[in-house]
Amino acid sequence: MIIDKLIACSPVKLNSIAPKFQMSVPIKSGKDIFEKSCDVIFSKETFEKAKNIVAKTVRGNDPKESVAIIMNNKIIYQGLGGETSVNVPKEIQKFLYDPKNKIAILHSHPAIQKHFTQSFSFKDYYSLITSQGVKKMYVVNSNGEYALFEKINNQRPENKTISKYKKLYYDSMQEAVDLANEYLKFMEKIHAELKAGSEKLNNSDIKYSKEQLEYFTKLGEKYHELSDLRAKVVVKASHDFWDKHAKDLNVKYRANFSYL
Ligand SMILES: [Zn+2]
Repeated sequence: MIIDKLIACSPVKLNSIAPKFQMSVPIKSGKDIFEKSCDVIFSKETFEKAKNIVAKTVRGNDPKESVAIIMNNKIIYQGLGGETSVNVPKEIQKFLYDPKNKIAILHSHPAIQKHFTQSFSFKDYYSLITSQGVKKMYVVNSNGEYALFEKINNQRPENKTISKYKKLYYDSMQEAVDLANEYLKFMEKIHAELKAGSEKLNNSDIKYSKEQLEYFTKLGEKYHELSDLRAKVVVKASHDFWDKHAKDLNVKYRANFSYL
């Protein structure tokens, strides 16, 4: 009988696959990291205002990225972008490129599967180091949680260093996508097992032992757990990358996303 076979083999499979999906969690969730990060450029009020501007556009059914730029404690520009990017007009770009300026740029990322926000893309990092006047960059989610890049100094890493880490970034993202796909396959398998099980449960001729019924409950719980973990894998990969390598690229990185 299929169900007996599943009960015999699936927990083993679950246990062997689970450690691969464990997350390393270096940052305390939801903690306000503003105090450490805002000393030179702007007040907390200005920061909160800019954060709300960009957080608002990634809420609701039609989320769009947006940007808010702070210079001399004023929001000098705010703009709406598309689903995956947002641009800054030329007349504002000239401020971003001037190394004398002390600018903070905030932008938002729409969530993946409602709860999970991708941290900085490599493109985000690249635009930070290309903009000499920008000293801090934020990526904000719909709840106002955020990740932060802060330049250690205004020196741009060597091109060969940038290329090396760019490759590493995309390789680790690919690895995460592969792992997420592995999750998906495993979830599909559990789903099929549950479906077959519930069909048989509805058949009054078959009697199940207490252990068998408990196992099905556990399988159902695992299914929900895995679907959340799958979404986490990809977003966590970019966070882990910056957490580990930002310093080698001349920036400090912090994040307070609550899913971390
Ligand atoms: Zn971005």
